[in-house]
Amino acid sequence: MARYTKSVCRLCRREGIKLYLKSDRCYSDKCAIDRRPYAPGQHGQQRKKMSEYGLQLREKQKARRIYGVMEKQFRNYFKEAERQKGITGENLLRLLERRLDNVVYRLGFAGSRAEARQLVRHGHFKVNGRKVNIPSYLVRVGDEISVRDKSKSSPKFKEIAEAAAHKTPPAWLEADVENFTGRVVALPEREDIDVPIEEHLIVELYSR
Ligand code: SF4
Repeated sequence: MARYTKSVCRLCRREGIKLYLKSDRCYSDKCAIDRRPYAPGQHGQQRKKMSEYGLQLREKQKARRIYGVMEKQFRNYFKEAERQKGITGENLLRLLERRLDNVVYRLGFAGSRAEARQLVRHGHFKVNGRKVNIPSYLVRVGDEISVRDKSKSSPKFKEIAEAAAHKTPPAWLEADVENFTGRVVALPEREDIDVPIEEHLIVELYSR
């Protein structure tokens, strides 16, 4: 699968906001967007007026980058969101939020979605007692997410548990940090999804 391998801080600088793609660094004074708050590249400091299409495109790119999804997969989420009942933009965000890597991040079991994705790929998590190593796995209401017994005692997960104790999961998830488990208690509502995305712009882009 194609993968973005350059500096992820460039992506935040391109979008002009913190996307929190790294872990502790995003909260430190080393954050690239605090140091260089302009787009990367030779012409990054030039001010440009954006067209309507440009605004829509940037919003879609921002969403893709926050959730770490490639273009083709993102389009598939959009098609699925269109098929579902309700507001397409909200359906799209709900689908992205239900990804297992996002849920692991939201539960506080990883410092960033990228770290969550790696931990899932390496087989550290189970859903309803069965190992799942697919980051795009979509959780359902009632699913229990847990850390594999073997992984719980590793130094990495001890570090994660300390950090997770200071985090609060969103209302649609319940976390039991001591036992390294989490539960999906509801599907996320729009107000539970605290990403800085204007989803209607993405719908407009794909409806062109
Ligand atoms: Fe973005 Fe984090 Fe890099 Fe700051 S440190 S630019 S928030 S990825």
